[in-house]
Amino acid sequence: MSSFDVVIIGSGPGGYVSAIRCAQLGFNTAIIEKYSSLGGTCLNVGCIPSKAMLASSHHYAEIKHFEDHGIELTGEVKINLAKMVARKQAVVDQTSGGVKYLMDKNKITVLEGTGSFVDATHVAVAKADGTTETIEAKNIIIATGSKPSSLPFITIDKERIITSTEALKLPEVPKHLVIIGGGVIGIELGQVYLRLGAQVSVVEYMDRIIPGMDSSLSKELTKVLKKQGMKFYVSHKVQSVERAGDVVTVQAENAKGETITLEGDYALVSVGRRPYTDGLNADKAGVKISDRGQVEVNDHLQTNVPNIYAIGDVVRGAMLAHKAEEEGTMVAELLAGQKPHIDYNLIPGVVYTWPEVAAVGQTEEQLKEAGIAYKSGSFPFKALGRARASADLDGFVKILADAKTDEVLGVHMIGARTADLIAEAVVAMEFKASAEDISRMSHAHPTFAEAVKEAALAATDNRPIHV
Ligand SMILES: Cc1cc2nc3c(=O)[nH]c(=O)nc-3n(C[C@H](O)[C@H](O)[C@H](O)COP(=O)(O)OP(=O)(O)OC[C@H]3O[C@@H](n4cnc5c(N)ncnc54)[C@H](O)[C@@H]3O)c2cc1C
Repeated sequence: MSSFDVVIIGSGPGGYVSAIRCAQLGFNTAIIEKYSSLGGTCLNVGCIPSKAMLASSHHYAEIKHFEDHGIELTGEVKINLAKMVARKQAVVDQTSGGVKYLMDKNKITVLEGTGSFVDATHVAVAKADGTTETIEAKNIIIATGSKPSSLPFITIDKERIITSTEALKLPEVPKHLVIIGGGVIGIELGQVYLRLGAQVSVVEYMDRIIPGMDSSLSKELTKVLKKQGMKFYVSHKVQSVERAGDVVTVQAENAKGETITLEGDYALVSVGRRPYTDGLNADKAGVKISDRGQVEVNDHLQTNVPNIYAIGDVVRGAMLAHKAEEEGTMVAELLAGQKPHIDYNLIPGVVYTWPEVAAVGQTEEQLKEAGIAYKSGSFPFKALGRARASADLDGFVKILADAKTDEVLGVHMIGARTADLIAEAVVAMEFKASAEDISRMSHAHPTFAEAVKEAALAATDNRPIHV
């Protein structure tokens, strides 16, 4: 029987990053993945393919503005969705191949099959050819991720009533895509098909889209997407989703108790994701799973069984690839006797629409609820030379700082390239910067990053330069 220092179940961003860090630290490491393609949800049906589709559809949307730039198109511009989807798949295959390369380079044993606990130190790997190999492990890391969740009365048929997985490989551009759930995944995929010509309606139970983020971001994103043609039904509770032939009918009730009916040809159910432990036989190792289906862990990501850890979407916290990566690294370093730490408050959240939305730290709603006195400074992108040069005028940067100490408590931005700009805010907050610290750092001109400096000036003592 093969024996390893560390066995990781699941090859998503949590699992594969953890495997690499374990190998770097000298552990004899194996990783088990049930699919032939490594990289988990993120690489195969999540972050990477959705960003590929967003990038392709963004190019198409940009064509409408070419004339403003003095570029005249003489021929017809057409969408070839099959080619767009094939390109997305090529990006996925290349990225997944890159993970395989990294496994080989780090001498990590990759076992293809479904891993299930035999006991606390043995894992059975059921392979596609029907055979089972049992391996021994000193330490085991559960990194089995998540799957799309649904509502009890919805039947996902994967053809017309679909999840994000199917939405990434549709055979046609929907005429009318009804999206159930206005969170990040629904809104990103909604913008893809809106750009490609679909009518897109979003039904959201809460009173705003991207409800976990600062309400100012939600308001601005709603405004921009409405301008682009997306329709919103917020504070609407979906009651039924039925399919008859090629028609999908969604009924939802608003706050006044009135029922609305939306007819589309596709309904995308994006109401969140659930932790995935099916077939893992966690009970055989004695590992506790919570009522919400999450593997229960302590602050060191250790389960109730001391040699078994869990990371990523399968445990509490934000379901984000970079959160899973940090946790994978942390467990590897803990096993090596190091003292790593994750500040969960400083894990940024991003929506990859255009304009992009990005945030880190506390929202205004959270600060108010906690009774923390704060100052707020905002700066609109339309006042930036760089934004005008590229005609990316929507959005703003908002910095929230402690009223007394000026320490930055939260940074919220919507606009061009904010997915990348947020890294400056993370660094600043990691080093406990004040708004004044940021405002006194030189930011290259002309860049979108100048909006961060200007918002910091506004937060420090209300003295932005360019408004
Ligand atoms: C459409 C979409 C877009 C997204 N975009 C972003 C984004 O832009 N940025 C971001 O940060 N996050 C994004 N996410 C979320 C991100 O994909 C997840 O947070 C991330 O993949 C979680 O990583 P993980 O390692 O915990 O699990 P996963 O990536 O889910 O990987 C788990 C792996 O474990 C395998 N597995 C499960 N059980 C077993 C078993 N018993 N035996 C063997 N293998 C098993 C699964 O097959 C899977 O490969 C997106 C998600 C979706 C669906």
